[in-house]
Amino acid sequence: MRALTWHGKQNVQVDTVPDPQIVNPRDAIIRITATAICGSDLHLYDSMIPGMSNGDILGHEFMGIVEEVGPANTTLKPGDRVVVPFVIACGQCFFCDHKMPAACDNSNPAEKADASEIAYGYAMTGAFGYSHLTGGYAGGQAEYARVPYSDYGPIKIPDGIEDERVLFLSDIFPTGWMAAENAQIQPGDTVAIWGCGPVGLFAIKSAILMGAGRVIAIDHHPRRLELARQNGAEVLNYHEVQVREALREMTAGIGPDSCIDAVGMEAHGFSPDNIVDAIKQETKILGTDRPHVLRETIMAVRKGGTVSVPGVYGGVADKWPIGAFMEKGLTLKTGQTHVQNYLPQLLELILEGRIDTTDLISHRLPLEQAAEGYKNFKENQNEWTKVVLKPG
Ligand SMILES: [Zn+2]
Ligand SMILES: [Zn+2]
Repeated sequence: MRALTWHGKQNVQVDTVPDPQIVNPRDAIIRITATAICGSDLHLYDSMIPGMSNGDILGHEFMGIVEEVGPANTTLKPGDRVVVPFVIACGQCFFCDHKMPAACDNSNPAEKADASEIAYGYAMTGAFGYSHLTGGYAGGQAEYARVPYSDYGPIKIPDGIEDERVLFLSDIFPTGWMAAENAQIQPGDTVAIWGCGPVGLFAIKSAILMGAGRVIAIDHHPRRLELARQNGAEVLNYHEVQVREALREMTAGIGPDSCIDAVGMEAHGFSPDNIVDAIKQETKILGTDRPHVLRETIMAVRKGGTVSVPGVYGGVADKWPIGAFMEKGLTLKTGQTHVQNYLPQLLELILEGRIDTTDLISHRLPLEQAAEGYKNFKENQNEWTKVVLKPG
């Protein structure tokens, strides 16, 4: 089959690779009909995440048609159309039992989990196409993918609804939704959201559906701010205004009820020395903006407010304003997305036409042009807001 493979820093290409096979009885093989490039894929592209090997297949946002199922899979059959969550979860362990599939203890093979156990105290969960630290699973920017525990994760999609309307159930829609849920929005609340990328945009849409009175979105790319505005947010361009002062003024001196950090800072190491290196690397490449956001949310939110962090952090953060956090009595909620928990409810919202899940798509490319998609998505973030790839 054809698949987008990683060959080092900013070096990805579409290669012919062996077709995936059923390995475990609960597996399925999916023929992929649509897949997307995620902002977090750019960190693999930039070689900032350790644990990558030459030839790894990328991609964790994908959907398609079931081609083959293992003998223990009683929920899927060939021909079913499914969206696959980026988080790989068994559905049976302590964490899956407690509705925390993004903390599944079984999906990251023991020999691969050691690195995250050193960094975080406990091993992290498996994910598609996201380095050998999360299991080394082949991703979905390909013609076919093997889906482990496929009787638990994927959601069946009825016929007659376009791929593009449901594809983002794989990651960014549930991630934006959980971010808004974690912001503990009460009807009429004011919510400030940093970052108008795909996750930030879905957080805006979700906060409004949850009854927020005002959503204020912060970014500097004009096209992304325009999308936020079209989705009902008031917008602040941080190149033009002092964000904290503007928020204070807009809320009569009280501050937003909750703040969402949809920017994050992907640290690039999972052992203590790598973490230090990663911070140096981050500072050199990205400047001070990105670690700035977590501090900014804590300082900007009103007393007794909530900070929600869907943005990815991987290492340690310096000068975390613990004093403001404690003295203001804040709540902080975060985590990788428990995608599986949200799928039936969010599919229903799409089917009812209550949310537009396609307005952020800026480019549609054949899989063969995936490398061009990566390059442009990285270098022109204003215009390239979301790239959908179509195999075959
Ligand atoms: Zn993603
Ligand atoms: Zn589990």
